[in-house]
Amino acid sequence: MTSRFRAIPAVNEVLADPRVVELMGRYSRDAIVEVAREELGAARSAVGAGADPPTLPELAQSVARSAAARWAPWPRRVVNATGVVLHTNLGRAPLSEDSLKAVAIAASGYSNLELDLRDGKRGSRQARISDLVCQATGAEAALVVNNNASALMLGLAAVAAGKEVIVSRGEAVEIGGGFRIPDVLRQSGASLVEVGTTNRTYAKDFEDAIGENTGAILSVHASNFRVVGFTHSPAIGELAAVGRRAGVPVMHDLGSGCLLDTRPYGLAHEPMPQQSAAAGVTLGFFSGDKLLGGPQAGIIIGGREWVAKVARHPLARAVRIDKLSMAALSATLLHYIHGEAERKVPVWRMISAPVDELRRRAAGWLAAAGAWAAVVDTRSAIGGGSLPGETQESAALRIDCAALGISPGETLARLRGFDPPIVGRIEAESALLDPRTILPEQDEAIMGALRALRNG
Ligand SMILES: *Cc1c(COP(=O)(O)O)cnc(C)c1O
Repeated sequence: MTSRFRAIPAVNEVLADPRVVELMGRYSRDAIVEVAREELGAARSAVGAGADPPTLPELAQSVARSAAARWAPWPRRVVNATGVVLHTNLGRAPLSEDSLKAVAIAASGYSNLELDLRDGKRGSRQARISDLVCQATGAEAALVVNNNASALMLGLAAVAAGKEVIVSRGEAVEIGGGFRIPDVLRQSGASLVEVGTTNRTYAKDFEDAIGENTGAILSVHASNFRVVGFTHSPAIGELAAVGRRAGVPVMHDLGSGCLLDTRPYGLAHEPMPQQSAAAGVTLGFFSGDKLLGGPQAGIIIGGREWVAKVARHPLARAVRIDKLSMAALSATLLHYIHGEAERKVPVWRMISAPVDELRRRAAGWLAAAGAWAAVVDTRSAIGGGSLPGETQESAALRIDCAALGISPGETLARLRGFDPPIVGRIEAESALLDPRTILPEQDEAIMGALRALRNG
């Protein structure tokens, strides 16, 4: 036993190996020493468990592999073949070309982020972006922060701290990642008053709950679940009217920031910021990287005085948006203002892709796939906290895993092993590649992977 341990090369031998010395030049000496120690530790455990002691070349090789994995550039580009347009694990919305250019300009040099070029004085990073938000939504005023979770938190803290906020029992929900409406309210210093029932709440329930200590009415869009059957919730216009009559602010968390009507694409209606603004809500909140198709951001719209009150709150500085997101958001909003969002914003290009075109693309991959693939009709989801349960008619390439002799899970694992990694989905015991979310320039990567899969 001891002799087997003794056969493991010593740390000094490993560190003196020319292959390891070369790694020290590429990374750093200290970093490689640490990796070598870890690899030796792992080797000792393996030998203890009965494995053969590694040779010096094997150890050098595992140090190189471990270093490459640890310091590989991240994040890596992957091909989204799931058909889920807004996939939170894959970074939600891809940006438009113009948005990428705007980011490059803001990131690669100095910019007039907070400088008024006419008089050379300090400007506001919010002035320009809020003007664009107002143009795109019809709101009177706007403020942009880091994400929608912080936007809502900030709005509640500025408007309703120390007071009661009335929420429908069916909307005191968890949005995801531990973001729960009752907790957010508590953190912002407000207290929750629930009205109605889980499935049915009426405008009158809110009206009856308004009292001396009411700070706001809050409506939260059910963006990641659906209550079906015997249900009712008041339209945002009704709530706005209740608030106006009682002199109580009405806050609307829309979630997605959907500026285009989803119905022409065979989807249910998703609440739109324009409608929320037109209904006269006091403050509306939405994300930048869901159906808006831009960068991570939290966008607050509303009446001038209320937005100014929110902007003055000390938390506003703590949740400030960074300049790269602001640049991307600015370019994204311009697509809507110019009426070109469907053509230029990637998520809308995907959502609006005709199913015939998707079928043609999937059929184009068939030659690379061989006999064990077929083009099938399927449905793809929007995902990412938008349109829960809603799917669109789609077409995809189905890989017959049984014919390949591997399980669907193994097929997906192999697809993830390609460069770039391909992320597919499983449906009815088969692996599916859905062209809806695959960028046109990635078709080559798909075909290369299919050829490699076919050849084992
Ligand atoms: C997604 C979502 C949020 C959180 O938005 P982020 O931009 O991810 O912080 C809040 N509320 C609703 C209703 C949502 O759908």
